[in-house]
Amino acid sequence: MKHNFGAGPCILPASVLDQAADAVRDFNGIGLSILEISHRTPEFEAVINETQDLVRTLLGVPADYSVLFLQGGASTQFSMLAMNFLHQGKKAAYLDSGFFSLKAIKEALFYGAVDIVASSKDKNYYYVPVGYQIPEDAAYFHYCSNNTIEGTEMFEVPVTSVPVICDMSSDIFSRSIDVSDFDLIYAGAQKNMGPAGMTLVVIKNSLLEKVQGDIASMSDYRIFKDHNSMFNTPPVFSIYVAMLNLRWLKEKGGIPKQESENIAKADLLYQEIDRNSLFYGLSSTADRSRMNVTFKTIDLELESAFLDFAASKGMVGIKGYPSAGGFRVSLYNALPLSSVEALVKCMQAFEAKHSNQKVSIENEVTV
Ligand SMILES: *Cc1c(COP(=O)(O)O)cnc(C)c1O
Repeated sequence: MKHNFGAGPCILPASVLDQAADAVRDFNGIGLSILEISHRTPEFEAVINETQDLVRTLLGVPADYSVLFLQGGASTQFSMLAMNFLHQGKKAAYLDSGFFSLKAIKEALFYGAVDIVASSKDKNYYYVPVGYQIPEDAAYFHYCSNNTIEGTEMFEVPVTSVPVICDMSSDIFSRSIDVSDFDLIYAGAQKNMGPAGMTLVVIKNSLLEKVQGDIASMSDYRIFKDHNSMFNTPPVFSIYVAMLNLRWLKEKGGIPKQESENIAKADLLYQEIDRNSLFYGLSSTADRSRMNVTFKTIDLELESAFLDFAASKGMVGIKGYPSAGGFRVSLYNALPLSSVEALVKCMQAFEAKHSNQKVSIENEVTV
């Protein structure tokens, strides 16, 4: 039995994997695989339409927003959004709260000026900055709601008169949001929505009207809206599996039910990190992410010992991002509470084992 705490691509529900496997052999009993049908068939149109409907229902997307499925991952959005909305001579406002927000800034700089309203980079991004001003003449304000590598999350949407663009790659569908607080939301699918290969964009139609000038077709949001995300071949299989996963989420009670489970999982793990004498949390307590929990061992030498110990108990994907070190445990939607319970037990067993060793060494010394 494996417990999959990987940061992405991440765990999917077993029932979704079973249905996806069946559809690879025979999709809906039509005698063809989902991998070999045209995206222009009524069968696939039903899939893409249902996936859009599920996104709308689950997130509560207002009617004046479009739901698009693109390719290239969230990383392509870093430049695409700037191509569409950061016009010549304009500047955009960015909050620098982590590794991915900095990557977004670097890509925007190819197209225009960037005003970094605040940064926590000099403190290894262990907290999310507050108390900054967003200039009113900015083309838009960009931030990342969950910093996947550092393990911080922003639950409040900054208030501003300029369009708000948010990278929600790693916390979309994990908690309730008010879509009308945003003008554009984007997310690579592989952290809470489905397998890699598809990127979700939810965009307010009035923002689309602000796109100016000539943009290469594959980077123009208007083209994808006009073609119902099928300007070229869409990522058919990724969209299909995302549909299955969103059906699963809806059937279990939607985001409110999922959010309370996610809170319970995160609370359990943070409690153990705070209690256990061998570990400490890396992110500021006020900004702790429910999706990615980062921590370290008090004694650096214990790090690889704990990794080995955890691996022997079936824990997968808990090693921290290389530049961050320590551990990162991801608690995405499909991860059951029982996996967190197993990890907590494993941390307790490691603590007991370690303190026994310490006691025996101390005994040797006193003898
Ligand atoms: C994973 C991630 C990205 C990068 O996503 P890709 O789909 O691999 O390009 C960007 N932003 C955040 C917040 C992420 O977690």
